Amino acid sequence: MKRIGVLTSGGDAPGMNAAIRAVVRKGIFEGLEVVGIKRGYAGLINGEFVDMNLGSVADIIQRGGTILRTARSEEFRTVEGRRRAYANMQEQGIEGLIVIGGDGSFRGAQIFSQEHGVKVIGIPGTIDNDIPCSDYSIGFDTSVNTVVDAINKIRDTATSHERTYVIEVMGRHAGYIALEAGLAGGAESILIPEIPFSIDEIIEKLHRGQKRGKLHSIIVVAEGAASGIEIGKQIKEKTGFDTKVTILGHLQRGGTPTAFDRVLASRMGALAVDLIKAGESGKMIARQHNDLVAVDFDCALSEKRTIDHSVYELAGILAI
Ligand code: ATP
Repeated sequence: MKRIGVLTSGGDAPGMNAAIRAVVRKGIFEGLEVVGIKRGYAGLINGEFVDMNLGSVADIIQRGGTILRTARSEEFRTVEGRRRAYANMQEQGIEGLIVIGGDGSFRGAQIFSQEHGVKVIGIPGTIDNDIPCSDYSIGFDTSVNTVVDAINKIRDTATSHERTYVIEVMGRHAGYIALEAGLAGGAESILIPEIPFSIDEIIEKLHRGQKRGKLHSIIVVAEGAASGIEIGKQIKEKTGFDTKVTILGHLQRGGTPTAFDRVLASRMGALAVDLIKAGESGKMIARQHNDLVAVDFDCALSEKRTIDHSVYELAGILAI
């Protein structure tokens, strides 16, 4: 293995730059040439290649987003699209590919590898933290900290005005961001798609709080569980409490990555290079119990990541 490619694909996540930096610098340290591919699989198909050197990744470890840009490519879902991507890789002399992205990106990588024998290693990068077999994906910790910061700020005004605040957070079909940020932010209720909830129970909790003099509340709603606006409307209608809704939106995807995400990304990037150099393929780097391991793409694609119910229960106990 002499020449490898690296791309970011799917939704961006803070810490992807730290992963690119690690792949490039560890790759060069190991005597490899590293090519950056712009705009994910779209760039692979359209021939957007950039030779990377040590300086190409200078001053990016602290930046959110991805210097390689990211995209979703419908064409890569077709046999012809992947054929063109492979032809470009051959022309460039790229023998292995490191894909930083979510499960969709790994599905594409797996099919690509099976069709053309390309060696591919995946690095999980998504704020949603929904990739099975890995306790953490790059960007999740930063996103949780962004949400906690927002909860702190909203709590100030909620207390001053004695209001109920509903905060809708990202996570798509998963509730990890809501759960961790809700616990860390001291939310009174946390609504996640993995666990059924009852609006009447939430309201009962609000009333209980009111009876013992609590005049403000924070309810964190995962976007996959319900619409924050709808929950706010129902609470207002059923309680008459002054209820405000904040949808945090895409600010959760940006910002300078936390130290945790930078370390995770650096370690994952370096291990991906070791694996691809050793001729491994079809694997994703995963963090399991504070260790980094390589798991088959099948593990990342077939299983569903489960929520830790004890964390949810604890959040409920502490917010009683
Ligand atoms: P995020 O979780 O942030 O959305 P993701 O990697 O899951 O990231 P997707 O849009 O699902 O994002 O996938 C990224 C790209 O991977 C797609 O645009 C497509 O090019 C490719 N891809 C996904 N699924 C397949 C598939 N079944 N076959 C071929 N390519 C695929």
